[in-house]
Amino acid sequence: SLGQTVTSLGGIRQVVVISDTHVAGLYGQDVEERLKNAKLQTALLTFPAGEDHKTLPTVERIFDKLFGIRPAIDRNCLVLALGGGVVGDLAGFVAATALRGLRWLPCPTTLLADVDASVGGKTAVDHAAGKNLIGAFHQPCGVIIDVKTLTTLDIRELRSGLAECVKHALIRDATLLDFLEAHAEALLDCEPETMTELIARNVTIKAAVVTDDELESGARAHLNFGHTFGHAMETYLGYGRISHGEAIALGMLCACALATHRGLVETALQDRLESLLKRLGLETRCPGLDAGKIEAIMQHDKKVRDGKVRFILPTDWGQVDIFEDVSAREAQEALAVLE
Ligand code: NAD
Repeated sequence: SLGQTVTSLGGIRQVVVISDTHVAGLYGQDVEERLKNAKLQTALLTFPAGEDHKTLPTVERIFDKLFGIRPAIDRNCLVLALGGGVVGDLAGFVAATALRGLRWLPCPTTLLADVDASVGGKTAVDHAAGKNLIGAFHQPCGVIIDVKTLTTLDIRELRSGLAECVKHALIRDATLLDFLEAHAEALLDCEPETMTELIARNVTIKAAVVTDDELESGARAHLNFGHTFGHAMETYLGYGRISHGEAIALGMLCACALATHRGLVETALQDRLESLLKRLGLETRCPGLDAGKIEAIMQHDKKVRDGKVRFILPTDWGQVDIFEDVSAREAQEALAVLE
């Protein structure tokens, strides 16, 4: 129903599909055929897969191709982002800036993009000075998710997406923890109905958080649960050593340990999180970390932000809060949970 869906948006004549070469090879032709069957003009523009290509030079190359299309594109052109979070972020940025803003429709193909990146309207590319530094808020006119695309996804990528789902459960909805526990194996097998329910529940959570706080002034920060520790560990270990989802899983464990030490939550929360992550095939240990160095990385990052290291800590089942008074010693002690 892709062609019909696009037609129903109204006034669209041309669809520019932006994808990475990997996803385009799997689904590009199928998507183009469906659009053509709905009498839409199409073009498929690709760039090499991977975070390394989420940059302005890639955007420029896509612009060269976009403005070379004949008949020339106008504001009735739709940008369709076909791929994971990298494609969504870059194609969304192209849509936000080409001709001062085109409509765009993400068709995410990774679980992370389904449950996280496709909701909220954040688009961005990376700069040598840091990730996602150049971007815009540009809401898509819809999101199309086909869970069948997840069957070709690498298991590590799938697990990364599941870590984000666990995060959503811990920040907003403890009943989602029950669901993840009850269906862990079916989810790892990409069982379509279970996966659809998981994605629907997660999209609802993410959409509720960003609707309350679209421009990220307050509660949207809750989505960063696990990120303070997680990002520091990614930097410490070196990008690529662990995936973002794996880092968030470890980060959530540290945040839970810190909250437990503070007496904010019972140890049961920590135990339950750990056994769920294990069942989902995620690492729960990372021995031999230099806690002092990781803490220093967190301190350094704070300078880039607003001068305070911010921790999102659980305060109850399915609830978190923002804390800015965590001492260096507390943070270092929390890392011991990964030994
Ligand atoms: P990704 O887009 O790099 O995809 C991971 C790999 O999987 C790539 O090699 C890709 O080609 C491949 N792939 C994608 N779909 C596939 C499929 N169905 N079958 C087989 N292979 C497939 O990574 P990601 O984890 O989806 O996204 C990470 C990016 O998302 C980061 O750049 C991050 O900054 C961004 N992000 C954005 C938001 C947001 O709100 N905008 C939120 C979270 C993450």
